[in-house]
Amino acid sequence: MDQHRDDATGTISTSPGHDGEPMIRLAGVRKQYGDGTVAVDSLDLEVRRGELVALVGPSGCGKSTILRMVNRLIEPSSGSIEVDGTDVIHADGPKMRRGIGYVIQSGGLFPHRSVRDNVATVPRLLGWDKKRTRTRTDELLGLVGLDAEVHGPRYPHELSGGQRQRVGVARALAVDPPVLLMDEPFGAVDPQVRDRLQLEFRRLQQRLGTTVLLVTHDIDEAVRIADRIAVLSVGGVLEQYDSPAVVLGAPATDFVASFVGSDRGLRRLAVTPIQTEDLIHPPTLQVSDTTDHALQVLASHDLDFAIVLDGDDLRGWVSQKTLQRGQTVGEVRRRFDDTVDVRDSLKTGFSEIVAHDAGWLPVLDDDRYVGVLTPESVHAALRRLLPDRVDGELPSVRAVAG
Ligand code: ADP
Repeated sequence: MDQHRDDATGTISTSPGHDGEPMIRLAGVRKQYGDGTVAVDSLDLEVRRGELVALVGPSGCGKSTILRMVNRLIEPSSGSIEVDGTDVIHADGPKMRRGIGYVIQSGGLFPHRSVRDNVATVPRLLGWDKKRTRTRTDELLGLVGLDAEVHGPRYPHELSGGQRQRVGVARALAVDPPVLLMDEPFGAVDPQVRDRLQLEFRRLQQRLGTTVLLVTHDIDEAVRIADRIAVLSVGGVLEQYDSPAVVLGAPATDFVASFVGSDRGLRRLAVTPIQTEDLIHPPTLQVSDTTDHALQVLASHDLDFAIVLDGDDLRGWVSQKTLQRGQTVGEVRRRFDDTVDVRDSLKTGFSEIVAHDAGWLPVLDDDRYVGVLTPESVHAALRRLLPDRVDGELPSVRAVAG
């Protein structure tokens, strides 16, 4: 995914000559601390423009060390690191850091400064005037879902954990950095708020086109929001670097398989969208059709249920058992308890199927009916993502009418 920021919004111009080049590039990077600990070894890693990459791995595998090297808080023992084509090791450290947003757990806010003052930290360092700083600060607070008038004058201890984290993100985005580094940014937020915050952040990041390198020990977080996941083992060794679906579906090493967990199949469902090509298409009837016609249609199909539509709009279903002659389909149709949108994940679809004991579920694209999701479709969709892998002949589940 090579997203660029919209120049029309005047936010960022990409440096000429670097189009298509990775935004962050680590080559042969090694970090050995003074006491001999090798935190990172022979690391090659590239992050494309506009990409969100998650570094995951157990505690001590070198994730924070990598972030701190990219941000030039510490220097690698050997190897090279480039950000937007600039060699960070030889760049002016403080100047470079101002061009890179950095978000840490709990937001890392200054406790004795108001929310507005926290967000204004870097603009002030850069000498922005008061008016410009205030406009930008309030705009950013709005962007992360806070009310500048209400929350701006408050101090960090007067905010919830989730709100503090939002302020941390706003502060890091203050001068619209092309690169954002995040170290366990959602770690201190309670689980329910965390889910929402992650997704909101992901939408914001996609909208702004910011390149993000994010550290987390939480594979679920990585799977939920990252374009690619770099799985590291202790010693800073890169075990696998791929999309969430591939890391979960085809772990490259035993280490990755055990790190992503035995329930990785369920996790894959959460990151795989429903696709129309995997749906089945039972016969459809219109509400105005007669039940006699419906019985004829069903007799010529191997499924014993049909979808009832009014034009393109879903109105319910009928099965052979419930049809009696001499009526209209509209009179005898059963309504659906639930539907899913084609953009929902397979996990959402599958849990609806299980929750309603139906065995299948109609799928809509906005309001238009597009097909039926069955356990078999779920299986087909998972296999489609891994075209090169032959898993043997798993028995498939036959779709049944509810
Ligand atoms: P992670 O973020 O994955 O938990 P870190 O990058 O913090 O891992 O640490 C990687 C390894 O480097 C660990 O073994 C840690 O103890 C060690 N380490 C981190 N910082 C230092 C330091 N300043 N001096 C010596 N060892 C360090």
